[in-house]
Amino acid sequence: MRIGYGYDAHRFKAGRPCILCGVQVPSEFGPDGHSDADVAVHALMDALLGAAALGDIGKLFPDQDDRWLGADSVEMLRQVMALLADHGYTFGNADITIVAQKPKLAPYIDAMRTRLAQAMETDVVNISVKATTEEKMGFTGDGTGISAHAVVLLV
Ligand code: MG
Repeated sequence: MRIGYGYDAHRFKAGRPCILCGVQVPSEFGPDGHSDADVAVHALMDALLGAAALGDIGKLFPDQDDRWLGADSVEMLRQVMALLADHGYTFGNADITIVAQKPKLAPYIDAMRTRLAQAMETDVVNISVKATTEEKMGFTGDGTGISAHAVVLLV
């Protein structure tokens, strides 16, 4: 068993789509970034790569590279899963926490779990997605941005 941890944060920008765990959440603002800026999938990929000690997403998908401009992070996640399989790893489970004051994420959690489970070719019981706020403190609390944490086990 190998454990991995990932963290990511993005600034919110008005007019950007708010895509989290591959699911578009209705919002007037979304995470800004080079790819689709899916902060939750970015944290998850770093956790997966961390568990295998295969670097991080900055190494795999450099943001100077225009191939990843506006990229679908779920597609990048599929590539990470393929890389792990190449190295002989089997996915165990993942637990993701998204931290944002707004938008409200509770109605979309099940869709997020399903989307990730499909992309990762695993059962939905192996994917946990949670959402929390930081009680209006700090950059997630004042609406400046959003962050996500992920832990995974690989076998
Ligand atoms: Mg990111």
